[in-house]
Amino acid sequence: MTPAKKSVARKAPAKTSPARKSAPEKAAPMKSAAQKSAATKSAAKKTAAKKATAKTTAPKTATTSKPASPNVRESLATYRSKRDFEVTAEPSGDKPVRSGKALAFVIQKHEASHLHFDLRLEVDGVMKSWAVPKGPNVDPSVKRLAMEVEDHPIAYNSFEGTIPQGEYGGGTVMLWDRGTYSPDEINVDESENDAAGRALKAGKLAFTFHGERLKGSFALVRTRRGESRAQWLLIKHHDEFAKEGRDIVAEVMTSVESGRHMEDITAGTKATTSKTKQAK
Ligand code: MN
Repeated sequence: MTPAKKSVARKAPAKTSPARKSAPEKAAPMKSAAQKSAATKSAAKKTAAKKATAKTTAPKTATTSKPASPNVRESLATYRSKRDFEVTAEPSGDKPVRSGKALAFVIQKHEASHLHFDLRLEVDGVMKSWAVPKGPNVDPSVKRLAMEVEDHPIAYNSFEGTIPQGEYGGGTVMLWDRGTYSPDEINVDESENDAAGRALKAGKLAFTFHGERLKGSFALVRTRRGESRAQWLLIKHHDEFAKEGRDIVAEVMTSVESGRHMEDITAGTKATTSKTKQAK
């Protein structure tokens, strides 16, 4: 069966317009789409959409006391096995955190043994993650290598700070961008989550960032399956947000959350640059 596809939405997909305007919305904690029954689905969708429009402030992570689902725990097994949560301040992923109905993304600048950017996209209650050595780019002629890494907990989306030296990923982590994203191709009766999961399994996801710094349509294309690390390319599609020759990660050097530079975060000090002066 070949389900009808929605037209590729490079510009302004009506479906996602409530989420486009604001930073990622803070909606009431909800179960993942998979856990939700079909009966409550459309009601929840309406509620989430309303909240998405109402909230314009930066997100605070909402936690619930319910333990993470078995699926999420399984997805995070590698993440947990690499870290000692007695030592690092990174989240263990014990508690489920939902940013809302819209799928969350985050990009963290991470100065570990090598400087890189971590791209994380929410799918199935976890953050699918890639290490992008040179960071995202908005020039469609530039293809950026993205190495698949272990799934991270959604709670990681608000992590900024330092990981102790000697620990896994020891170094400084900056929240470089965040927001929601939506797959560009969604089959009829398919949720955004399922569309994103399906596309990633197939090795090609076209999606639109609704970030504070990254906007517009991108592609993630798998070029090599690795035993542990599949390789992908992150490529900007041509649209109104594409800009030839712009090196956005060289231009935007501060935290989207705190306005701090890497040195400030490493030193544990406040921003030395006013957040209002930041380039978008
Ligand atoms: Mn990293």
